Amino acid sequence: MHLQVGAASRHGYFDVPRTSREIMWPWGHLGVAYLLYSIYTHRRFDRPPSALPAIALAIGSQFPDLVDKPLAWTFDVLPGGRTLGHSIFFAIALVSVVYALAIRFDRLEVGTAFVIGHVSHVITDIPPSVLGGDFSGTEYLLWPVVEQPPEEPVGGILDAILTYYALGPYEIVQFGLFAAAAIVWYRDGMPGLGYVRSLLARGRGTKAES
Ligand SMILES: [Zn+2]
Repeated sequence: MHLQVGAASRHGYFDVPRTSREIMWPWGHLGVAYLLYSIYTHRRFDRPPSALPAIALAIGSQFPDLVDKPLAWTFDVLPGGRTLGHSIFFAIALVSVVYALAIRFDRLEVGTAFVIGHVSHVITDIPPSVLGGDFSGTEYLLWPVVEQPPEEPVGGILDAILTYYALGPYEIVQFGLFAAAAIVWYRDGMPGLGYVRSLLARGRGTKAES
């Protein structure tokens, strides 16, 4: 029994502060991004999202983590899993570059979808405790200007899930958002699915040929 408690606390189950456990998971980010983007597209164009923008949205909704997590946890280049890709300064630069490219290649809808995904990720990583006036956990927004709280060392995304995952009200809300988004996506005609399928089929075709 003693051993168990020791092992658990060494892995941070007990000594992680409450706020750092209020984590938005990948499916939560995807759900929020899709709901926002679907509302935007229906209002702006009076139709559901198209395939390529839907894919750009999905990538954008994970982009801050795709930048920070590997660079921090696998390659040790960044000091933490919420740093560069989660900062407002990076977002400003990224949005400028994305829109410059979108205008250049006449893909404004794709660019807007990516930006909505990225920005909604950065905003929804703000812990819900800010609603109660506790702003700890928001330091990443001003990285590298503001000093960051120390982070539990994690070996990767799977280790992060094993270390931090706890099924509480915040996690249930995220499953709810994901489920709602999945229903809306289905009713929108599942944009992006056909495109990904044809890509996979083409990949299989070239593999069969070679
Ligand atoms: Zn994140």
